[in-house]
Amino acid sequence: MGANPAMRRAWLAHNTGHALETAADTRFAPEETRGNIENLVGATQVPLGIGGPIRVKGEHADGLFYVPFATTEGTLVTTYQYGMRAITEAGGATTHVLGDALDITPCFVADSTAHALEVVRWLDEHLPELQDRVAESTRHGRLLEVRAHVLGRRVFARMVFATGDAMGMNMVNLAADRVCRDVTDATACDRYYLRCNYSSDKKPAAINLFRTYGKEVAVEVTLPAGVVEQHLGLTTADLLDFVAAGRLGTMQAGALGANAHFANGLAAIYIACGQDVAQIVNASIGFIDFEAVGDGDLYVAARLPNLVVATVGGGTQLPTQRECLALLGCDGDGTARKFAEIVAATVVGGELAICAALANGRFIEAHRQTRVAAARRGARPVGAA
Ligand code: NAP
Repeated sequence: MGANPAMRRAWLAHNTGHALETAADTRFAPEETRGNIENLVGATQVPLGIGGPIRVKGEHADGLFYVPFATTEGTLVTTYQYGMRAITEAGGATTHVLGDALDITPCFVADSTAHALEVVRWLDEHLPELQDRVAESTRHGRLLEVRAHVLGRRVFARMVFATGDAMGMNMVNLAADRVCRDVTDATACDRYYLRCNYSSDKKPAAINLFRTYGKEVAVEVTLPAGVVEQHLGLTTADLLDFVAAGRLGTMQAGALGANAHFANGLAAIYIACGQDVAQIVNASIGFIDFEAVGDGDLYVAARLPNLVVATVGGGTQLPTQRECLALLGCDGDGTARKFAEIVAATVVGGELAICAALANGRFIEAHRQTRVAAARRGARPVGAA
């Protein structure tokens, strides 16, 4: 019989003097975490706040949504709340899912460039067989295409999958491995490596700028001048003056993408909703732009090409995570694109608010207040002696 969490904590206490008694208090049974964690000893609690409501007028999400944020960063929820309310007062954000695919890029090792080119031709000619092979290992995953290129005697074969409502990493790994065995046998390649960094999963890379990875979502909203002034506390002209500085900063830094803090909202929502949090590395690479239109109105457009999200599988089945997905009406089959649209619209709310706060000086005031609140409960500021 294997160890249970209580036995592991006792073992830990014996070795270190730390029993992790607070972490022991969980709302799930150990069995419910099977497939999500090894060496379970308990759970970490992260405070959960609600922002919104945000109105989304999407292809898949249509309505008012109260969005859960799990974070320990004071001011984060308030910041998003400002922007989400501004979007709602403006009539809502329009959203579209532009793409929906996850890729994996195995590397096949051939004898020579000529042999590698034969492998590429074989892949081009046998896609239907490979698609049938994938169907043997998954009901929801589908192989859409294989895009291969050669470097010396190596073939990098980007296999693009639809993954339904799952994030799809396990699904795609297992299916691609079956396909790779067939390709290796049929083409007499010496060997293959299932992954070799080309898909840049959980790694920032230029490829994340131009191909869909997960859900690719577009967001658009026009805020009337009155909404900008009342809810963001400045004029469109003042906001755009800050945005001009932000663009120059982004270029000088050589940033991948152009945004102020996509990662903040993504991290908080991902933790609340049981997403694979390390996917924020990819998901936070996206673009936002602001324009003045009409008589002082503000037009905002964003593109998030790498929103890797799920409403099925992985951590989404855990109790509090499922509860948060249910709050958004995104628990279960047929809801991943809806979830992606809500997340993307919310992220745009956060951009509006932080840009406004940096432009009008509220940013530093809000953080000062957070520090005062922390000091009142006895927390020492970071860096204090
Ligand atoms: P999963 O929990 O391994 O699998 C999802 C399952 O849901 C599949 O078995 C699928 O069955 C089933 N399913 C039921 N209804 C579905 C629907 N409507 N749409 C899609 N699938 C449906 O999850 P996964 O998404 O493949 O993998 C995600 C997990 O892998 C995460 O926990 C992640 O942390 C972990 N992981 C991540 C990485 C990485 O990011 N590099 C690497 C390895 C593992 P069928 O397949 O039969 O359709």
